[in-house]
Amino acid sequence: MACKCGNSEIYFTRKYEGTIMCKKCFVRSIEKKVKRIIRINKLLEHGDNIGVALSGGKDSTTALYIINQIVCKRKDMTIFAISIDEGTGKYRTDTIKKSAKLCKSLGIPHYIYSFENELGGKLPDLMKKNPRLNACTFCGVLRRDLLNRKARELGATKLAFGFNLNDEAESVFMNFVFGNLDKFLRLGPLVSNRKIELFIPRLKPLREVPEEELFAYCDALNLPYYGKKKCPYGKESVRKTIRKYLYDLDEKYPGTLFQIVKFADVIIPPLKEHFQKTGEIKHCIVCGEPSSQDVCKACELMEKGEN
Ligand code: SF4
Ligand code: ZN
Repeated sequence: MACKCGNSEIYFTRKYEGTIMCKKCFVRSIEKKVKRIIRINKLLEHGDNIGVALSGGKDSTTALYIINQIVCKRKDMTIFAISIDEGTGKYRTDTIKKSAKLCKSLGIPHYIYSFENELGGKLPDLMKKNPRLNACTFCGVLRRDLLNRKARELGATKLAFGFNLNDEAESVFMNFVFGNLDKFLRLGPLVSNRKIELFIPRLKPLREVPEEELFAYCDALNLPYYGKKKCPYGKESVRKTIRKYLYDLDEKYPGTLFQIVKFADVIIPPLKEHFQKTGEIKHCIVCGEPSSQDVCKACELMEKGEN
């Protein structure tokens, strides 16, 4: 048994395709796939200044590395990375160290913002405002909001995330289970609503790459990513239950995750059309950031609308 190039040193087995690959062919296949997603969806365009949300994990590390392969060959595009320190302790300081190391080695500007400086407190302090909610709800909303704001201040035309196939399939499944049809608009390789001022379009160039392949990609290239401990606040959640369920399903029936994402790709365009016709474009009446409600989720969590 050998890789299609003839090399008998096998690095990765892709069950859903029934292929085995040497390290070089595996790395090339990931880069080819991500660049194809970028090309066919026109994720990068002339004049773009791409901000990459860099957490220091294998997903955003790969996103930054591959997008940079394209941008560094172009004179009409620029790239930078943004990391958010939520104040979750050693876990986050370690991931930020890895991020800084990667950016330094690639010569990419790296901007770090903290909840403490920007929002007035670390995650555990902010959570006291609404103790019934779990940490990830707070963290996810506030981080997304801060990333959008800072990317805009830094002049980004797009904001890239490292969401992988597993993440995207989980989101499809969750929206389906909870009947959140409008949230399907946040899926797809490009989340953009050009009608909404202040919203930086979001790119997800890794949405067709399974999680385990991202570990293997970073390891193959010795990229500095943080893969040890998990965030101490990431406790049990619906998403985690669905993650496990889908993981088991995909183990038993390889290719399931791809099918779920393909399903979303079919229904997103008509849903977009429907919601863009009926949906109202809003900005938060408290902070002015893009929002689907009068008061955005971040202000609601921070109880700003009630002052
Ligand atoms: Fe934030 Fe939850 Fe992720 Fe921890 S696991 S960084 S609390 S979203
Ligand atoms: Zn707001």
